[in-house]
Amino acid sequence: MSKKVLVIGESREGSLRNVTFEAIAAANLVSDGGEVVGVLCGDGDLKGMAQEMVYYGAARVITVSNPELKTYTSDGYAQAVQQVIDDESPEGIIMGHTAIGKDLTPKLASRLESGLISDATEVVVEGGDIVFTRPIYSGKAFEKKKITDGLIFATIRPNNIPSLNRDDSLTGAVSEKEVQISNIRTIIKEVLKKSSDGVDLSEAKVIVAGGRGVKSAEGFEPLEKLAEALGGTVGASRGACDAGYCDYSLQIGQTGKVVTPDLYIACGISGAIQHLAGMSNSKVIVAVNKDPEANIFNVADYGIVGDLFDVIPKLTEEIKQM
Ligand code: FAD
Repeated sequence: MSKKVLVIGESREGSLRNVTFEAIAAANLVSDGGEVVGVLCGDGDLKGMAQEMVYYGAARVITVSNPELKTYTSDGYAQAVQQVIDDESPEGIIMGHTAIGKDLTPKLASRLESGLISDATEVVVEGGDIVFTRPIYSGKAFEKKKITDGLIFATIRPNNIPSLNRDDSLTGAVSEKEVQISNIRTIIKEVLKKSSDGVDLSEAKVIVAGGRGVKSAEGFEPLEKLAEALGGTVGASRGACDAGYCDYSLQIGQTGKVVTPDLYIACGISGAIQHLAGMSNSKVIVAVNKDPEANIFNVADYGIVGDLFDVIPKLTEEIKQM
């Protein structure tokens, strides 16, 4: 049965995050030929980004611009999105499983007295039902879930559900909605950026990650060069962060970021279960470790037993020559 499905878009520094397009693709499947409606909150002119959502498959987009929405607060965004939901009465809501998605969607679900399927890595139609697949037990197993009654509300993990092809011949209305926002309990005074290379770890296609085996902050340099040669970015284990070799914003794992790049190169990382929880769903995993018994080799597609300070520069040179 066709449904109206809202997609809550997410932008950063004036550009939509890729997961917004992936959410539109998921919403198209969930809607079963119904209407996919984008929602974009912020402050200022949001029309350009709203138009992009149309090119990626939203039938129409509602923009909500308000000075209170300049930076994300759960109070402000929940009030704004709730007012759109009240107007639209959708049968489904999809958003990215990002830091903002993880914060906003449970709040909305509780206000709407709805269930929520979080962190879906796949959405398919099975026997007429919409079935979501999501990891459980820190990624050691997957479960399939479907909502049999009420609102279909889900977040999707970035980099897992392919977006539709961009088609700039697609047309769809972009409308503005005014909202009332009051009693915001959080005031964001300043946003401090920690990582400077601009590539978002959770959306990166290639990650070269370093562990305690890199031995120092300088030890990350060969990894940075390899990441640059591959057009990727650098990540880390908690071991490397705890040792002060890099910033915690790079931490991947159970208590860090969850990533699903096309290529994950683990350098000097032993493969503790808490690290695997954040990267074991990467499409191709390469491990470089001098210990042949290291657990990381159990999840790796390709393993290199060796000293990372020999292997990584050689790999970088080879890749540069390709
Ligand atoms: P180590 O385990 O010390 O491994 C270093 C590896 O480097 C070894 O395998 C060694 O053989 C190899 N090595 C050394 N020198 C070289 C060399 N020259 N060349 C090649 N290989 C070399 N960890 C995370 O990563 N992310 C998390 O989110 C996370 N959350 C946690 C949450 C909880 C509640 C707990 C208890 C722990 C968590 N941890 C997390 C920590 C986790 O248990 C491990 O301690 C951590 O992942 C180990 O980091 P590591 O692999 O870099 O270091």
